Amino acid sequence: MGQTLTEKILEDHLLDGELETGEEIGIEIDQVLTQDTTGTMVWLQFEALDLDEVQTEIAAQYCDHQTYQFDFKNTDDHRFLRSAAGTFGAHFSRPGNGICHNVHKENYAAPGKTLLGSDSHTPTPGGLGELAIGAGGLDIAVAMGGGAYYIEMPEVVNVRLEGELPEWATAKDVILEMLRRLSVKGGVGKVLEYTGPGVETLSAPERTTITNMGTELGATTSIFPTDERTEEFLESLGRGEEYVEIGPDEDAEYDDEIVVDLSDLEPLIAQPSMPDNVVPVRDVAGTEVDQVIIGSCTNGAYEDVLPTAKMLEGRTIDKKTDMIVAPASKQASEMLAREGWTAELMAAGVNVSEATCGPCIGIGHVPGSDSVSLRTFNRNFEGRSGIEDDSVYLCSPEVATAAAIKGEIVDPRDLADELGDLEDPGFEMPEEYTGSKADLIPPEDAVDDELIKGPNIADVPLKDPLDAHIQGEALLKMEDNITTDHIVPASSDILMYRSNIPKISEFTLSRVDDTFPERAQAADGGVLVAGENYGQGSSREHAALCPMYLGIEAVFAESFARIHKANLFNFGIVPYTIDEETYEKIEQGDDIEVVDDVQEGIASGQNEFTIRVNDDWEATARLDASERERDIVVAGGKLSYTKQQAEEG
Ligand code: SF4
Repeated sequence: MGQTLTEKILEDHLLDGELETGEEIGIEIDQVLTQDTTGTMVWLQFEALDLDEVQTEIAAQYCDHQTYQFDFKNTDDHRFLRSAAGTFGAHFSRPGNGICHNVHKENYAAPGKTLLGSDSHTPTPGGLGELAIGAGGLDIAVAMGGGAYYIEMPEVVNVRLEGELPEWATAKDVILEMLRRLSVKGGVGKVLEYTGPGVETLSAPERTTITNMGTELGATTSIFPTDERTEEFLESLGRGEEYVEIGPDEDAEYDDEIVVDLSDLEPLIAQPSMPDNVVPVRDVAGTEVDQVIIGSCTNGAYEDVLPTAKMLEGRTIDKKTDMIVAPASKQASEMLAREGWTAELMAAGVNVSEATCGPCIGIGHVPGSDSVSLRTFNRNFEGRSGIEDDSVYLCSPEVATAAAIKGEIVDPRDLADELGDLEDPGFEMPEEYTGSKADLIPPEDAVDDELIKGPNIADVPLKDPLDAHIQGEALLKMEDNITTDHIVPASSDILMYRSNIPKISEFTLSRVDDTFPERAQAADGGVLVAGENYGQGSSREHAALCPMYLGIEAVFAESFARIHKANLFNFGIVPYTIDEETYEKIEQGDDIEVVDDVQEGIASGQNEFTIRVNDDWEATARLDASERERDIVVAGGKLSYTKQQAEEG
């Protein structure tokens, strides 16, 4: 039987286990990336593990989420990150140099390699044939120290692309169509491997838009085979020698297949406030638009901004609509400026911003109250834009630009008919990417050789080994699809405490219930209850670290998002699964006791535990965990576990 591309790369990197779906495997990591909101913890944990030098081929530290540095804490964090990169041997990308996924794609991503990143959109370079997976910061620290990365062998799904995109339909519409069909849970436990004759009709950067937003499907990662379009892209980046041809065997067997005929696609849009709330643009045409933003790691590349600039050439945007363009990398900004496109954008009424994540996580360009914002981003979870009652739509740069021109949502095909002189700008790649590398500091040019810690940077808290007995109040009962943004909000006034766990813990779950942090501190222990897909969204390990700091011992949920579940193990919190009936029956404030000896049960491989609620009724809670995850949670988390292992030699 032939192999899928995913199996081939995993086999090349396999250190532990067998490639059987659902089995835990340990793989070797070639490259790691981290960014500023997760990176401080990565390096503090690297230090706490007594590691002294990066072991992977590439480790890259980006500063992209909070680049405005409006508070000294952000600036101190960036200086700490630069000093950590220098001290331990990583590449450092300065604040303003761009979003991690874009800068990584331009400079380091390579076919056939494995990449682990402490950011959920790490799968972006899957479009170049790299097997790229998002993980928690502690997993990154361990992988960077040369340790294996452990994951359950995912199902591999064949997404067969046929046909060719018609006018005004884009790569963004491909992934929006996938979200429309599969929902935000449709990719959980799966790798989406794109194949078929439609692949060669898409350029490498278009493929990375699709793999980037595979994260919104909950997929472990998404990947494309490589071909001359991949080679062409690498050559235009000056990295042609890194090209290798890789793809699945002709007789590869997949766990499932999905067929998408590109020629059937039309401009699509995700309505507020979930990326899978997708409809044709024409269904919501006529909705007035207050703000349009082009940018993010999904659609902020040079090739994404260019169509916008071409559509706006010689025009001005609607007077009631604000438009912001934030290119995703400084290289893109520099090239657009040199080619005169930035001036065109400015003349059209666009506010050109620096290369940053910023507005994607509510840092800058927050929409007004009761207003509509169209963005080319990947997420529109409620409140993520920086205001609770937001109304954020997700779409392609073409659809967003059409809306800026008309002041309302409009299918660009209809706008083209109306205006008579508006043409589909199409997709164009430069022959050569010419941006300077002044903001990228390789380890050999490092400016620091010791860590610089500002006053807001605190040591990583450690948890004691797991108790034999778990009992506590259900401090919070939450609904389905609670995101890591709900658990630890990503707004700027909170994120600036990311390097200070005691402080940032004061905001834990405050978006769900603002009395929670205080109640949790007073209770000094307790448990959480949630519906399905708990912890979806980002890879933010603070979403497990802060509950751990507040004494949360277990989460009882109907299901968990993959990265968050791994993070809960990593920080010594037991992620129990309960059925819908049990979930319905438990009420906030109930006393939940795990009747079995937890420590012994977990260590001995027990899957089912009896819980007693209010000393009144009983139910079953499941623990699905590998042997390694069990050892980690019993040890009190991965930091203690890894240290223990190192001591044991
Ligand atoms: Fe940055 Fe948004 Fe991409 Fe996350 S999703 S890396 S915040 S641009």
